[in-house]
Amino acid sequence: MIKNIGFVAHDSRKEELIAWVKYNAETIKHCTLYCTGTTGKLMKKALQERLGDECPEVNCLLSGPLGGDAEVGAMIAEGKLDMLVFFCDNLIVQGHQNDVLGLSRLASLYNVPYASNRSSADFIISSPLFTSETYKRIIPSCIESYKNRKLK
Ligand code: PGA
Repeated sequence: MIKNIGFVAHDSRKEELIAWVKYNAETIKHCTLYCTGTTGKLMKKALQERLGDECPEVNCLLSGPLGGDAEVGAMIAEGKLDMLVFFCDNLIVQGHQNDVLGLSRLASLYNVPYASNRSSADFIISSPLFTSETYKRIIPSCIESYKNRKLK
């Protein structure tokens, strides 16, 4: 069951993410949301308008360029997120481009379901696995191997 979701949207894609969240409000209301600062502020407002008292917990981390992407990445590495929705601006290089790359790398490394655009997010949220009680994400064996690597 997907419970904890990370959300990040760069400025040019915030509107798109908020539209997706509003459309899927009923499906994500059982989840706890962790967002970079500005994304979270907008998301909380949109979900409160849509769901009122049933609005899920929306946790606002630091703004992305100020360390928020790194915080979301750290949550993935600590096993605290079950899914990432990260709508990134693909037409400009960000001041925090290293953090952008780091976040997508960690989502890939830890085998976290990761939507980088709206149709991927649609496919993930409409999968029966989204609400499955039995599905367990596999943590890739390379992580354990790396921890136990032999050093001279
Ligand atoms: P923001 O950060 O939600 O605080 O705007 C997003 C980002 O630029 O990574």
